Amino acid sequence: MNLLYSNDRKAEYPPSWYAATAHPMDRFPALEGDTSADVCVVGGGYTGLSAALHLTEAGLRVVVLEAHRVGFGASGRNGGQLGSAQRMAQEDLERLVGDADAAKLWDLAEDAKDLVKSLISEHQIDCDLKPGVAEMALSDSDRDELHEHAAHLSGKYGYDQIKVLDAEAGHALCPSPTYKGGLLDMGAGHLHPLNYALGLATAAAKSGARIHESTEVLNIKQGPHVCVQTVQGQVTADHVILACNGYLGDLNRQVASRVMPINNFIAATEPLGADTARVLTQDVAIADTKFVVNYFRLSADGRLLFGGGESYGYQFPSDIAGTVRKPMAQIFPHLQDVKIDYAWGGTLGITMRRMPYLTRVAPNILSASGYSGHGVGTATHAGQLMALAIQGQAEGFDTMSRVPALPFPGGSALRSPLLVLAMTWYALRDRLGI
Ligand SMILES: Cc1cc2nc3c(=O)[nH]c(=O)nc-3n(C[C@H](O)[C@H](O)[C@H](O)COP(=O)(O)OP(=O)(O)OC[C@H]3O[C@@H](n4cnc5c(N)ncnc54)[C@H](O)[C@@H]3O)c2cc1C
Repeated sequence: MNLLYSNDRKAEYPPSWYAATAHPMDRFPALEGDTSADVCVVGGGYTGLSAALHLTEAGLRVVVLEAHRVGFGASGRNGGQLGSAQRMAQEDLERLVGDADAAKLWDLAEDAKDLVKSLISEHQIDCDLKPGVAEMALSDSDRDELHEHAAHLSGKYGYDQIKVLDAEAGHALCPSPTYKGGLLDMGAGHLHPLNYALGLATAAAKSGARIHESTEVLNIKQGPHVCVQTVQGQVTADHVILACNGYLGDLNRQVASRVMPINNFIAATEPLGADTARVLTQDVAIADTKFVVNYFRLSADGRLLFGGGESYGYQFPSDIAGTVRKPMAQIFPHLQDVKIDYAWGGTLGITMRRMPYLTRVAPNILSASGYSGHGVGTATHAGQLMALAIQGQAEGFDTMSRVPALPFPGGSALRSPLLVLAMTWYALRDRLGI
């Protein structure tokens, strides 16, 4: 089964609140016939669009091939949270790669956040960027761990954007009976993810990138001049960037064995009116400490955008709204029967260690994916790092690619059933509170 078409109509955005509120954008034409480029980018999400923008700004000839529409994948469907740090906890990174590389990875993560903010400002991308992401604890011990984590980031990295929340302060921010306090990180932020992707595409196209939508790549023939074959044409390029993340399928087996697609779901309620204050009292985004994380924020028109629930096969559940309603009602029992106006799913790529997988699959083919639910900043940044690596400045790319990446047990064929077993166990622990 081809993940590109399992749950969606060809070249149509899913019926999300984001698509309903996206800035209109004309379709880019499909590729027809043969062409050449310095760099061919496969995939038109944050990774591919950012790579294309940075490469064209450096004067290279770039073609972007996107099977559906720009921002069609996770980039146009996500929770919109621009988080701090790497996805793996900084303390765990220190143990894995040592203090020196962990410090470099911390700096790269800060660069990623700064890059998103500066691209939005430089290219005047209208995507509702706002500061503030809180992490809420489900138990007193989770809260204590979060507070220790904040102290670690402040002591070791001088990060001073985090305010710790005791139970009372947490409740004042988010009046759910479930939470016991947490952290509020004002260096992090949230945005309209699809409008951000569309803004990147506009900037890349203005800068000279040739973007082709409705253009699925079928095959990549390696060599000094890589030949990228599509349904109706082909691109010959000196370099190729693979930016397909969770939608990669079998286009490259080395990447597929280390980056697993999983599905995650979001629902948008009807506008809550005066009830918004029973959900959030500040316009910040929330994520909690559940293994299958709940995350939410208010939309510009006062809806609750609530993300929760995961699935591990190719197919989304038939009732996405019902899937999300369950965790939403656990966090906000008063919203048990609220009307849900939009519900959608998206596929993201995760890795065993939840660190992105940046690699050279051939000397002139780079790949970045597996952001593990933390890609708004890191995918944008990985695109820039690959653009720099192609120009011979590979330090950031090499630091990221040095993080050891384990293949999933069973490789690309068996990874899914084994993951289902593992994830089901962790989800059960969530439910049992252990
Ligand atoms: C529901 C959900 C919520 C999330 N929430 C957050 C969040 O709040 N914060 C955060 O930081 N991250 C979040 N993420 C993760 C984040 O969205 C991703 O890490 C990021 O968008 C990855 O960008 P990308 O460009 O690498 O991949 P994508 O945006 O998935 O783009 C890949 C593109 O490649 C195209 N493609 C694939 N194969 C081919 C082919 N053969 N030929 C041509 N084109 C192809 C696809 O059509 C797709 O458009 C979430 C993800 C999901 C699904």
